Amino acid sequence: MFIPAIKGQGTEEQHEKWLPMAYKMQIIGCYAQTELGHGSNVQGLETTATFDPQTDEFVIHSPTLTSSKWWPGGLGKVSTHAVVYARLITGAQDHGVHGFIVQLRSLDDHSPLPGITVGDIGMKFGSGAYNSMDNGLLRFDHVRIPRNQMLMRFVTREGKFVQSDVPRQLVYGTMVYVRQTIVSDASCALARAVCIATRYSAVRRQFGSQNGGPETQVIDYKTQQSRLFPLLASAYAFRFVGEWLKWLYADVTQRLQANDFSTLPEAHACTAGLKSMTTSVTA
Ligand SMILES: Cc1cc2nc3c(=O)[nH]c(=O)nc-3n(C[C@H](O)[C@H](O)[C@H](O)COP(=O)(O)OP(=O)(O)OC[C@H]3O[C@@H](n4cnc5c(N)ncnc54)[C@H](O)[C@@H]3O)c2cc1C
Repeated sequence: MFIPAIKGQGTEEQHEKWLPMAYKMQIIGCYAQTELGHGSNVQGLETTATFDPQTDEFVIHSPTLTSSKWWPGGLGKVSTHAVVYARLITGAQDHGVHGFIVQLRSLDDHSPLPGITVGDIGMKFGSGAYNSMDNGLLRFDHVRIPRNQMLMRFVTREGKFVQSDVPRQLVYGTMVYVRQTIVSDASCALARAVCIATRYSAVRRQFGSQNGGPETQVIDYKTQQSRLFPLLASAYAFRFVGEWLKWLYADVTQRLQANDFSTLPEAHACTAGLKSMTTSVTA
């Protein structure tokens, strides 16, 4: 999510600086939006990014306990950087939530940088549910970053904040992109599992031996088929729907760039619903 956020919300200059390092894994990034007190309600985020005109920097700060970042995947142990969503404050004015690239850990010894508190949120509920992912917590104590680390595709800069005329709805493309890749990943995981189970069912024989002949392949038992075949069909269906979502994402991105928001609600609904459905069936 670090890369799509920079691609979607960064300027050309920012793409050139950050994306090659991220692709080569010279830096590892995460997407730090959710806070302890604010999940679905992104507008309620409390982390602040206050512009300091004296030094041309932003000061990133967690003013309350509920403003602690909570959940970002890859944050707990691995990430060196994050796209942090924080309230942009210039003068005394609050301009709402924007993305900022913030370095969290040293590239020499991976220790947290001054002013950064970072760690893993611990075990997640459920049998094996996502425990291989280091979902993390993060707090900032007046951490300074250069001004050019604010993702600025949607703003112009003349010493004061001016919203650009590039549609802000483009920001939402990141979430659509990520959900679409999750559906494709689910289809691959299910296809692999079903393939293993089908092959095993074909070679495994149990009962039904007549006149000393071989036993029956378990794939020939209807109870085995009733478990296996719907999942086999689902693996194909998820694969096709994953391909369709890729097309939908490309289409919606193109439309947003032309100020056409008409298919955005459908893209949100389809990617969110299918992400939930395909991952539940696969799990
Ligand atoms: C496995 C996992 C990985 C994650 N990875 C990241 C990450 O990389 N980066 C990141 O920033 N965040 C991440 N998150 C956090 C995720 O974005 C939030 O969990 C999500 O935004 C929901 O917020 P919440 O958990 O606080 O739920 P809440 O917002 O507290 O919602 C609780 C319940 O209330 C419902 N609800 C809330 N508001 C309404 C409403 N207006 N109408 C109807 N129902 C409503 C919700 O649907 C939900 O059922 C991750 C979460 C999980 C579980």
